[in-house]
Amino acid sequence: MDEKKEPTLLQQRKKELFFAPTNGYDRLAPGEEEDIQAYCAGYKTFLDEGKTERECVDYAIGLAEAAGFRPLVRGEKLRPGDKVYRNNRGKSLLLAVIGQESLNQGAVIGAAHIDSPRLDLKQNPLYEEKEMAYCKTHYYGGIKKYQWTTIPLALHGVVVRRDGTVVPVRIGEAPGDPQFTVGDLLPHLAGDQAKKTMGSIVSAEQLNLFVGSRPFGTEEGSDRVKLAMLEILQEKYGMVEEDFLSAELMAVPAAKAVDIGLDRSVIGAYGQDDRVCAYACLQALLELEEAPRLTGVCVLADKEEIGSLGVTGMQSAAFDIFMSDLCDSQGAALKACYENAFCLSADVTAAYDPNFAEAYEVRNSAFLNYGVCLSKYTGARGKSGASDASAEVVGKVRRIFEENQVIWQLAELGKTDQGGGGTVACYMANRNIDTIDAGVPVLSMHAPFETTAKLDCYMTYKAMKALYTH
Ligand code: MN
Ligand code: MN
Repeated sequence: MDEKKEPTLLQQRKKELFFAPTNGYDRLAPGEEEDIQAYCAGYKTFLDEGKTERECVDYAIGLAEAAGFRPLVRGEKLRPGDKVYRNNRGKSLLLAVIGQESLNQGAVIGAAHIDSPRLDLKQNPLYEEKEMAYCKTHYYGGIKKYQWTTIPLALHGVVVRRDGTVVPVRIGEAPGDPQFTVGDLLPHLAGDQAKKTMGSIVSAEQLNLFVGSRPFGTEEGSDRVKLAMLEILQEKYGMVEEDFLSAELMAVPAAKAVDIGLDRSVIGAYGQDDRVCAYACLQALLELEEAPRLTGVCVLADKEEIGSLGVTGMQSAAFDIFMSDLCDSQGAALKACYENAFCLSADVTAAYDPNFAEAYEVRNSAFLNYGVCLSKYTGARGKSGASDASAEVVGKVRRIFEENQVIWQLAELGKTDQGGGGTVACYMANRNIDTIDAGVPVLSMHAPFETTAKLDCYMTYKAMKALYTH
């Protein structure tokens, strides 16, 4: 017999007063599991098509044009519902859907980055040693260098030849393509290596990309393997060694995005920081069918992993100029727009990892499957470098998420004084735009293979959609 007991006073008061979040799977709306799977299928394609900021921009423009977006023309008049974009030098992308209200009333901005840690080739990379050919690399972003050895790598980028022609390079992605790798020492001989600290187990100058070993011809001479490599590059890309000087080539993990776990609840892939949030912002904006109340803006930024500097980084005036062009299109004032605007700095955070529990503070950590994660502040050593969103901003976002059944959590990166990090939030806040960080919790962030929970990916998209349409 099932006898429903009345809750005790203790139980009742706990329920009323305690904050006790539960797993997102216990809170999904009917039919949402299917929506999650469908959304994540598109996201995995985005990951495979866009392993560099350039490729992400190209792919995103394809999606945007299919959704009715067109390049913004400076000086044109824009009307509610107009969908425009600006390609910033092929490396960052700005998109907008014009709202019903004037830009004087502000805009809703989703800002994510599409650059990820990787191994860039140096400008004079190719050399031969003991009849093996290598390329020197200079790592980009914060990496644990040893993680980038003994994995298959692909080579992406462009070569600008002497005559100015820009030749795209993508080796190691198509079925049957050759791939590349960086070596590590066998454990049998690692006696000295084992005594080193993490940063020097494999040093930056040991991150040399193996590219080949078969010598040119049969004639005696030096550097025959290097020559053979240049022969192949000339045949394939019409380039000579000097063309490396004006090339941007990067070694990225060759693996494709896959489902992880018996239940397929997690995605494993390279570059999820921050393409997981970039795709969420982009997809939410592309799906706006009619003019939202406020203009929606999506920024896919470059250079976040190295400080957001540079012409395609979030500190660049390119963003201000795009916003100012939008304002001019309807006679609005940029300063009024910024003052009333809201920005979600959509970037990933660290997911609690029980295997490394000592690095986290469990009461303020982000958990897999607990939804999109708000971070009031980032920074290091006493919030240094953080823009620290106000309680009012957190309150506003919290209300919008709750009204739209967005499953969300709030956390900080890890233990205070354990480390830290930053995002583009401070650069948006410095512009007089109310900004808060939110994004997907990631396991193994900045590793060649990062993992995220599908539920959290989907909820970040749902959160962005709620903000764009509020
Ligand atoms: Mn990031
Ligand atoms: Mn990062």
